[in-house]
Amino acid sequence: MKLLVIGCGGVARVAIIKAAKSGEFSEIMIASRTVGKCEALARELEGESKAKLLTAAVDAADVEALCGLISGFGPGAVLNLALPYQDLTIMEACLKCGVDYIDTANYECEDTDDPEWRAAYEKRVKEKGFTAYFDYSYQWAMKEKFEKAGLCALLGSGFDPGVSEVYCAYAQKHYFDTIETIDILDCNGGDHGYAFATNFNPEINLREVSANGSYIENGKWIETKPLEIKREYDFPEVGKKDMYLLHHEELESLAVNIKGVKRIRFFMTFGQSYIQHMNCLKDVGMLSTTPVEFEGREIVPIKFLKELLPDPATLGARTKGKTNIGCIFTGMKDGKKKTLYIYNVCDHEKCYEEVGSQAISYTTGVPAMVGALLVSNGTWRKPGVYNCEEFDPDPYMEALEKYGLPFVVKEDPELVD
Ligand code: NDP
Repeated sequence: MKLLVIGCGGVARVAIIKAAKSGEFSEIMIASRTVGKCEALARELEGESKAKLLTAAVDAADVEALCGLISGFGPGAVLNLALPYQDLTIMEACLKCGVDYIDTANYECEDTDDPEWRAAYEKRVKEKGFTAYFDYSYQWAMKEKFEKAGLCALLGSGFDPGVSEVYCAYAQKHYFDTIETIDILDCNGGDHGYAFATNFNPEINLREVSANGSYIENGKWIETKPLEIKREYDFPEVGKKDMYLLHHEELESLAVNIKGVKRIRFFMTFGQSYIQHMNCLKDVGMLSTTPVEFEGREIVPIKFLKELLPDPATLGARTKGKTNIGCIFTGMKDGKKKTLYIYNVCDHEKCYEEVGSQAISYTTGVPAMVGALLVSNGTWRKPGVYNCEEFDPDPYMEALEKYGLPFVVKEDPELVD
């Protein structure tokens, strides 16, 4: 099996190391904007990789360039670990070249001032009722094309989205007749020692956290102001943390695919220092995506900020502590009320020891590799465009255990009010 990985950042590093050492792939091509990063990783894996590693430079926004790369290498699947901005061009190239597609984040438009995109966005905000810049409509609209081509696109195979949805499918299959509520809790109890840094791509992370929050209740989106809803939760193996309700992309697909669910919420933990820095940067306009004129040239404030912040890929060596990410379910089984918590705990320092990355890249990179593996070997392959909860969760859960993300199933957990 041949795999093409696009992007060579924090998440890609983990997925590539895991795929290279798994013995499941014969050849892996690492292709990204900065080919030097791909070459450095390939060199680092010399003697350890069971797959032959190749590297290439590619602009993932260019469909023709992608097609040249895909047809020259001939992979069975493309794992997109670049940025959500490139989802549509990579999917288009996969359709043209007849290969399967896997990613970890749904499409987001890089230029939110583009009039055509804005018109479609305003329409969607009115129709659906949430204002996030990202949504599944663009990728779901390609379902028929993938079906007709006999190709599979697996969307959002990271931790959240990704494992969070597989936990929902697993709870539905093994523990509930009806799931009534889902709370997805994402806790990072790690400390990297910086006053302010983001755990994954700063641009994507800050756009997500500084946006309005939202949740789904009885089929309707309810929006909140950014970080308006706060709760405290005592996370197993991490302890008490403040967490905030965010809009998150898997709410959209779970509302469609988990039949009968009445409420879905997503919470993420943040420390006070992170929130103060983010609010301050937002207030002064540093999170803006609209270009400004500076000393005779145009700069995009959030892209400039990204250059100043620590590269998330370098946080591994200094991060201590654990993550705990999981889902709390309430519902009915055999006519009785039931509550359940499925979660994974991941230790930053152990991740660094194993792959030289912190746990956020690890908890995303492992499921990205697992998704690529299950699509490539046919276990999770069917023509069309799918989210992770639409497949049998068991092989995915088994592979998570095998590749480093074991899970805990806890009955009668503390609930979030
Ligand atoms: P990074 O910024 O570390 O890496 C992104 C990589 O993509 C870089 O190597 C970058 O190249 C490359 N890239 C960017 N633009 C292009 C382009 N036009 N053509 C080719 N390559 C390009 O990001 P992360 O690794 O932190 O995140 C990767 C993805 O994972 C993102 O989509 C993010 O949203 C997603 N994610 C998903 C999570 C989940 O749980 N589902 C959690 C965390 C992240 P260069 O090196 O030149 O900058």
